[in-house]
Amino acid sequence: MEPTELADVEQNVSTGSLPGWGRVDELVRDAHRRYAGEQGGVVADYIPILAEVDPDLFGLALIESNGGLHDAGDALHPFSIQSISKMFVYALAIQHHGHRRVREIVGVNNTGLPFNSVMALELNGGHPMNPMVNAGAIATTALMPGATSVEQWELVREGLSAFAGRALSLDGAVYASEAQTNERNRAIGRLLRSYGRLQSDPEEAVDVYTRQCALSVTAHDLAVMGATLADGGVNPVTGDRVVSADVCRDTLAVVAATGLYERSGEWLFEIGLPAKSGVTGGIVAVSPGKGAVAGFSPRLDPAGNSVRSQLAIGHLSRSLGLNLFASAPAAHASD
Ligand code: GLU
Repeated sequence: MEPTELADVEQNVSTGSLPGWGRVDELVRDAHRRYAGEQGGVVADYIPILAEVDPDLFGLALIESNGGLHDAGDALHPFSIQSISKMFVYALAIQHHGHRRVREIVGVNNTGLPFNSVMALELNGGHPMNPMVNAGAIATTALMPGATSVEQWELVREGLSAFAGRALSLDGAVYASEAQTNERNRAIGRLLRSYGRLQSDPEEAVDVYTRQCALSVTAHDLAVMGATLADGGVNPVTGDRVVSADVCRDTLAVVAATGLYERSGEWLFEIGLPAKSGVTGGIVAVSPGKGAVAGFSPRLDPAGNSVRSQLAIGHLSRSLGLNLFASAPAAHASD
């Protein structure tokens, strides 16, 4: 993906606030229109049922920290959350245990290897390193409170529902399809256990993880979930506190380094926002203090990131001045 040239859009910087609701709405619609014709990428098919999706679906949503809502295209089309769940389960786990304990067990660095890599574990003595790819995410899910895996799953579902501001449900067909074909994740579970990184039964930990990935969401839901992390842990739509402000900061720092698989560095360089993507074509990017923008479109680049979602979110990051690294000189006395 090439950085978008935006000669016709005024470029703002990260400091300050979003423009008024009407201008944000215009820009969200413009971003959707611009990339609706983009055909690059291929749909994930390693989980059989995912190959059945309509590749032309394209939704975009932005939720402001003050509760302002913006949806464009297929923003209300349901899909399974997949890897994006990792970011929110991580937040729940560090809320419960504190970030130090989770950091010790799971880590906070990018492995630089594909999301389902077994090699990454072997190369690091069984330390998962990255909570945003499968090994680290399975280890993180296993840290969820709950006396049994059934209770852990309920707490995951309730926690992610609180982020979304509505009761999320399991897509049973996606769960069944992945559960029948996830030998690789089960191997990762066993390897984690052999290295002493899982206290619970590996089959059960992988099962809770597979369920969390099959939760059904929309781009609108993802934007609300991200906006909760942008709003110091308070859901801007329901007004309910979900996690602490410290948990939001720590989660976003990890996601900035790891959220777009092996393209995380390029993404941060080009777009300048913490974001997490998943193989069903969702991406949610968080602008602390301002809000979150989520895209959904199933065609993926070779690392597993939605092509259209990257382009549309990149456009909005530039046109709304969301890049965290952008600044302009303040007025100085000598000016
Ligand atoms: N459930 C998927 C897996 O474990 C998630 C992959 C992803 O979205 O990165 O393979």
